[in-house]
Amino acid sequence: MQSPEYGLEPDEITCLLLLQACAHLGSLNFGERVHKYVEEHGYGNLLKIRNSLIVMYSRSGSMEKAYRVFCDTSEKNVITWSSIISGLAMNGYGREAINAFKEMQREGVAPDEQTFTGILSACSRSGLVDEGISLFDVMRFEYELTPNVCHYGCMVDLLGRAGLLDRAYNFIVNEMIVLPDATIWRTLLGACRIHKYVGLGERVIEHLIELKAQQAGDYVLLLNIYASVGHWNKVADVRKLMKEREIQTNPGCTTMELNGKIHEFVADDGSHPRKKEIYAMLEEIGTQIKIAGYVANMASELHDLDVEEKNGALSYHSEKIALAFGILATAPGRTLRIAKNLRICVDCHDFTKVLSSVYNRVVIVRDRNRFHHFRYGRCTCNDYW
Ligand SMILES: [Zn+2]
Ligand SMILES: [Zn+2]
Repeated sequence: MQSPEYGLEPDEITCLLLLQACAHLGSLNFGERVHKYVEEHGYGNLLKIRNSLIVMYSRSGSMEKAYRVFCDTSEKNVITWSSIISGLAMNGYGREAINAFKEMQREGVAPDEQTFTGILSACSRSGLVDEGISLFDVMRFEYELTPNVCHYGCMVDLLGRAGLLDRAYNFIVNEMIVLPDATIWRTLLGACRIHKYVGLGERVIEHLIELKAQQAGDYVLLLNIYASVGHWNKVADVRKLMKEREIQTNPGCTTMELNGKIHEFVADDGSHPRKKEIYAMLEEIGTQIKIAGYVANMASELHDLDVEEKNGALSYHSEKIALAFGILATAPGRTLRIAKNLRICVDCHDFTKVLSSVYNRVVIVRDRNRFHHFRYGRCTCNDYW
């Protein structure tokens, strides 16, 4: 942490910035070092630092540590509470987030917009529909806060994930007092994928096109909706359209931090120095988890057209390669932490669940939207993401 060549030591502002950077990258190892440093240099009790530590640990998927910092913070302000609530939400602890919110109210700390973004997303991510609807009312009527586009987004997500798609659509069209942006429509499109709503999905794409906001990921979602109901002609049409319009998809990429070094994997990766061992391990894992009941879901997701899907049955998404490397390179029982730049697909999610029980590992995956904590064959998202 010191910069001996300049004779300088990081001050509290630098530490805050470092913690923010760690939170952004989900870099637990480095974040822990900053934590140690601030404790040793007397910054550990500053509220700003403590709030940043809560965010850093939450975003690195280490909720126990975030919670410990939270509990050891005697003077909690609204940011402290909002940080822990958002952290619990992001990591799939919906009930705990609601309990924290109630405790905050008992302590007499008034929630702000940020708090409600956290608590509403907790409800949507954990499928707590009634609680979410009533908290949306609490926000508007009890605390007289005007909902912003994030709050509306949470509500659309809440209704959509719960399968109340028409209600979600009506909510957007009739109840929003701000204009729906692309994110709102995209949220509904995600719900259409989960619940295989073809017609509504097509309507949502039209709204996105109208906003001139459609992205590669939107077409990929639409493609997956068609694939999930077996409309292969339409899958082909969308592909053709994507080719014509030269819409580029992001290649899927997974990273894993190991002993301070970041290892990066892409689908069908042949670039890692230990690739031979990795692929042998992948095969070994495949055999083991098949015995335990895993069935490959090849048609499940086509999220990366160019790379991830091309080779059909032989193709491995990058998170599987990263996991094989993790099993290979770490001691038995160690927690595996990986980060994926896209949403994790159904097949990789199933794969990881079975792997966590067969190999007795906790696996923490940070995907584009949230954290998945896999343990004993289950995931904290309850297959709901
Ligand atoms: Zn996958
Ligand atoms: Zn999950």
